[in-house]
Amino acid sequence: MLTVEQMKDLRGKKVYVRVDFNVPQKDGVIRDDNRIRAALPTLKFLADAGARLLVMSHLGKIKWKEPDAEKIEAMKKANNLECAAKRLGELIDHPVKFCPENRGEALAEAVAGLKDGEILVAQNTRYQKGEEKNDPELAKEWASLVDAFVMDAFGSAHRAHASTVGVPEVLKKEGKQVALGYLMIKEVENLSRCVEPKEGDHPYVAILGGFKVSDKIKVIDSLLEKCDKVLIGGAMTYTFKKALGMPVGNSPVEEDMLDYARACLEKAKGRLILPIDAVITNSFEPVAGREIKVVATDVTKGGSIPDGYEGCDVGPATRELYAKEIASAKLLFWNGPVGVFEQDEFQAGTKAVCEAIKALGGKAFTVCGGGDSASAVKQFGYKDIFSHVSTGGGASLEMIENDGHLPGVDVLR
Ligand code: ADP
Ligand code: MG
Repeated sequence: MLTVEQMKDLRGKKVYVRVDFNVPQKDGVIRDDNRIRAALPTLKFLADAGARLLVMSHLGKIKWKEPDAEKIEAMKKANNLECAAKRLGELIDHPVKFCPENRGEALAEAVAGLKDGEILVAQNTRYQKGEEKNDPELAKEWASLVDAFVMDAFGSAHRAHASTVGVPEVLKKEGKQVALGYLMIKEVENLSRCVEPKEGDHPYVAILGGFKVSDKIKVIDSLLEKCDKVLIGGAMTYTFKKALGMPVGNSPVEEDMLDYARACLEKAKGRLILPIDAVITNSFEPVAGREIKVVATDVTKGGSIPDGYEGCDVGPATRELYAKEIASAKLLFWNGPVGVFEQDEFQAGTKAVCEAIKALGGKAFTVCGGGDSASAVKQFGYKDIFSHVSTGGGASLEMIENDGHLPGVDVLR
């Protein structure tokens, strides 16, 4: 695969750069500009080399199925990409312009007017109905505006849309250069290691938490094949516990996943580790006077969760057990908070996992992937202890699920 650094003759060349500027914002006020910053190395490299950049990204969601045209207009207005273009202009030493259109005459003229080293951010790709359908006409039009394509939107690389897959497909057929940007290279390299561990990467330990077993089936399957230990946490714990016959009270359980959970436990032959205690409550909502306590949940020792209570975090014995397992790791992949980290009362488990990973120092290669996992790690101030925290929630999981394949990467091969 070609990388942005290997691209030739960039001066004066028009390059379509797909970035992930899907930033959290309201009324154009950006709450966190990390994603814009993450694209800077690629944009700077290309602009410094004298390329003329057409930068595109999606922002938020536009539900095209909505029959009320006024509501569609409101969704568009709420997801105007102009704020990201403005922010980019503040962060980079190159002229940044914004084109409020992303198709037709206005866009073509704006691209044609670019000078060497200038950047044009076009309107949110999702303003086009054809974007998510990978409409060939749309991809053709976008491709016709440029001489080359660079993919740097890792967070969108699991989606085969016109702006991520359609455009490079067209350009490739025309013999034009299509390449991976710096952010993509970093993400793909680091996550690939979790897909294909190197020699010396064992024990390979995974921590898998989060909400639903059904969301994570392919991740569990894939990790069970590669890992020496898979530590389970989060709400999905209780589906596994119930599969083992333990009473779980009001804890969230996916009844239709019980057979799958049993099959996993069988296949894992002791490599799938479940919590041995839980922090439980009689009210998920933080109402005054709710009860919170710790109970043993070791099935072999008759542990259980009483009726009227639900598990919201791993308990202290599990925190210790998991810390020991983590301490043995040479390679570690973490997805999914092990408790309801949004509430102070149920943060201890997720924080303990962070602490245990911190204690590894540089002795292991550690990767965190997943939207909520990454935000928990950031929120608790542990971002820098990891070898890599992925910027892509869904994309990082799909890479693990699909043995390192992503549509937005495969198209560049
Ligand atoms: P990621 O985005 O990192 O892949 P998920 O979306 O699968 O993670 O899961 C994150 C959510 O899981 C969080 O909102 C967290 O509150 C929730 N969660 C974790 N443990 C529990 C639990 N025991 N009960 C209910 N929700 C939980
Ligand atoms: Mg999530």
